[in-house]
Amino acid sequence: MTIYNFSAGPAVLPKEVLQRAAAEMLDWHGSGMSVMEMSHRGPEFISIAQKAEADLRQLLAIPDDYEVLFLQGGATGENAFVPMNLLGDRQVIDFVNTGEWSKKSIQEAKKYARVNIAASSEDRNFTYVPARETWKLSPDAAYVHICSNETIGGVEYHFTPDVGDVPLVADMSSHFLSRPVDVSRYGVIYAGAQKNAGCAGLTIVIVRKDLLDRALPITPSAFHWKQQAQADSMLNTPPTYAIYIAGLVFEWLLAQGGLAQIEKRNIAKAKLLYDYLDSTAFYINPVRREDRSRMNVPFRTRDERLDAEFIKGAEARGLLQLKGHRSVGGMRASLYNAMPIEGVQTLVDYMREFERRFG
Ligand SMILES: *Cc1c(COP(=O)(O)O)cnc(C)c1O
Repeated sequence: MTIYNFSAGPAVLPKEVLQRAAAEMLDWHGSGMSVMEMSHRGPEFISIAQKAEADLRQLLAIPDDYEVLFLQGGATGENAFVPMNLLGDRQVIDFVNTGEWSKKSIQEAKKYARVNIAASSEDRNFTYVPARETWKLSPDAAYVHICSNETIGGVEYHFTPDVGDVPLVADMSSHFLSRPVDVSRYGVIYAGAQKNAGCAGLTIVIVRKDLLDRALPITPSAFHWKQQAQADSMLNTPPTYAIYIAGLVFEWLLAQGGLAQIEKRNIAKAKLLYDYLDSTAFYINPVRREDRSRMNVPFRTRDERLDAEFIKGAEARGLLQLKGHRSVGGMRASLYNAMPIEGVQTLVDYMREFERRFG
């Protein structure tokens, strides 16, 4: 039976990446060492880290005036480290609240600054992205924070908001590398690797260099972007194996033709599932059409027992980790880069069959 893993994260990785990691597990490139056993300051690992950064820069066409940092602490960590690194002498942060991950960022930021909710989709249960024209930005904000893909609610920005001269900060964790991004429109992009770019333990921060002088004095060194940039992300021991795995994912993405090609596949995969959802009233996805996430697709039936039955039947067919987030229930299919279209087709076939039996 072919297994398809729909986990929201840690999530499916390309088979080729796992095979390569397995083949190199005991002896990386004739070094006689596993990547896990290497000094982060040795020539072998430095070559791995440099290639990973170069490949990521190529994939996203990251301009030279941006630093790429390979850190730890996850997106949850960044929810604190972003304000610490960017507040400078400002007091206010503008947030757009589009769901669970926005709320987490807001809660954390409140420890460090005054938070202005510039826009929110709470009025309709976080099922859309508020139009840019409705945002009420503060004139003196340190930055504007968005979560560009809400992993739980399944809401994605399909536009880059213009916020003028104020830096735009995006938590891109769950759609990072799923599509091309114009990095120059952002002050900071951050993402935990375990959704779409590798395994847990690595947090990627892309930051415009002119923003590196705003850190609060209390910022811990390990999460101080300027200090880490000056140390090539090796002020402390970096998450070496997670960087290696992400590097293999970047190579794999380049071999697929880069992010423009990957985006085409992701559009086709998402269309397959949403077209089916739109064709039936048996399953419900509450998100406004133009704001639907290509990566995370929440859906449910009319009652919870049926949802539980659906998940049981799915597991028996090798369709794994479809259970929705504990805060919302129902189902959620995550269609990250490494999910082949055959996996989505198998899911849709099963959904159709389930509807015929219980509809
Ligand atoms: C998963 C996720 C997080 C949290 O990541 P951690 O690695 O657990 O800190 C934050 N934001 C988004 C959008 C996510 O998908």
